[in-house]
Amino acid sequence: MMLKSINKKNYINGSWVSCSNNIKVYNPSNNEVIAEVPDLPKEKILEAIDDTVKKAEDWRYSNLDQRYEVLRNWYQLIRDNREELASIITLEQGKVISEAYKEIDYALSYVDWFACIVKSHKNYSRYGSNINHRILVDKEPIGAVAAITPWNFPLAMIARKIAPALAAGCSIILKPSEFTPLSALVQAVLLEKSGLPAGVLNVVTCNAKLFGDLICQDFRIRKISFTGSTRVGKLLYEKSAPTLKRMSLELGGNSPYIIFADADQEKVAEELINVKLRSGGQSCTSPNRVFIEKSIYESFVKLISDKFGKCKVGDGFNKSNKQGPLINSNAVEKVNLLLQEAINDGAKISCGGKYKNNFVEPTVIYDCQDDMSIFSNEIFGPVIACYSFDNVDEVISRANNTEYGLQSYLYTKDLAKANMVASKLDFNMVSVNSSMPGAAKAPFSGRKASGFGIEGSDEGIEEFLNTKYINWNY
Ligand code: ADP
Repeated sequence: MMLKSINKKNYINGSWVSCSNNIKVYNPSNNEVIAEVPDLPKEKILEAIDDTVKKAEDWRYSNLDQRYEVLRNWYQLIRDNREELASIITLEQGKVISEAYKEIDYALSYVDWFACIVKSHKNYSRYGSNINHRILVDKEPIGAVAAITPWNFPLAMIARKIAPALAAGCSIILKPSEFTPLSALVQAVLLEKSGLPAGVLNVVTCNAKLFGDLICQDFRIRKISFTGSTRVGKLLYEKSAPTLKRMSLELGGNSPYIIFADADQEKVAEELINVKLRSGGQSCTSPNRVFIEKSIYESFVKLISDKFGKCKVGDGFNKSNKQGPLINSNAVEKVNLLLQEAINDGAKISCGGKYKNNFVEPTVIYDCQDDMSIFSNEIFGPVIACYSFDNVDEVISRANNTEYGLQSYLYTKDLAKANMVASKLDFNMVSVNSSMPGAAKAPFSGRKASGFGIEGSDEGIEEFLNTKYINWNY
């Protein structure tokens, strides 16, 4: 069906390239092979890097109307092909189809936003020491960019990198996750149709480590934009030191989700479940440690367990299912291990707790303690781990007791308390009385082991620009 229309070859310098070795792509719902994509050999990857570098010289001088038009065309093509793109996401990633549509809207918002930014982004000048002296500040494209994307949001993470790169005037070589390459390859089809000149975007599928090594070593690649694990982010950072690249590293998270006793429990429970079900809990902003004030602890655990336990798990194309499979059996094992360790250390299950194949039941555990492995590790699955807290200072200190610093959430009707807690949380993103903070207009970023570099917002494009100062005397 729709898969026939996806080009499963790699897209290099405007040509569709295949090779003798392939990587199998699986449907996580039944572990069947749905496609094979190239396992591109080293010499072809090097060619693709060369093309990206060469085209950086042309695209940097593209006029802004052309960049705007490409991005607007791409936006329209994604919209026109929503059904098919959503099906591809569900097929290769597993998430339920309603979540796949949400991901498309999220991706669209980035393409739209950076199309707008193309037109509004400014260089500026100011007077220097006298009226004939100008300080000119030019924003220049950084050059050739390499992007590595994960499998949890196979379209949105790509849009979030390609759109600002193109808007800034950078060429880009993209290596998507080997688990979800189809959503990426189909974007090459759409961008070609959008009028993007050959070679400005190259999409390759290959051995991840090999690709990482080649781009890190190549001085001409001036930036790496990576979303993935902290482990791989650190490797790329280290390997790029000799070539001193600019980097954006969007890495793991360990989000606290703080619920004060005065919060509207029904609303919080609905929102917590919705955010937890994004990509089946496989999101770096997923609530990882749910802190509940002691006086409502029991009632809230019961409420959330009643609701979460009713969420049906199964194939993502079946509309009655609220959650699909996890990406593969390794992911299931990791979630199950954290769960079993927590149980062994004294946590109790109030709903779920079992799995079959790649399907993990929505699970709530309570009586969790801060010395359990589930406290310090990213769960990346549909498990809500509940902790009780007594007072505000204590919960701030426990929430901050992690090496990660990406997303945090808090719920209270007391706005003075909300303001104080928000300012003390050691995370780059704090969401107050809402669980859906993601927006292209907002700066998405982490601190500490969650990495650095901003995606989205006015600042997102700066990641792809050099700031040049020209000292000008008339
Ligand atoms: P996860 O553990 O969630 O799969 P990873 O960090 O392993 O996250 O994967 C994110 C992206 O990083 C994927 O595109 C993957 O292929 C890529 N990747 C994995 N290992 C390396 C590596 N050694 N060098 C470069 N990229 C890598």
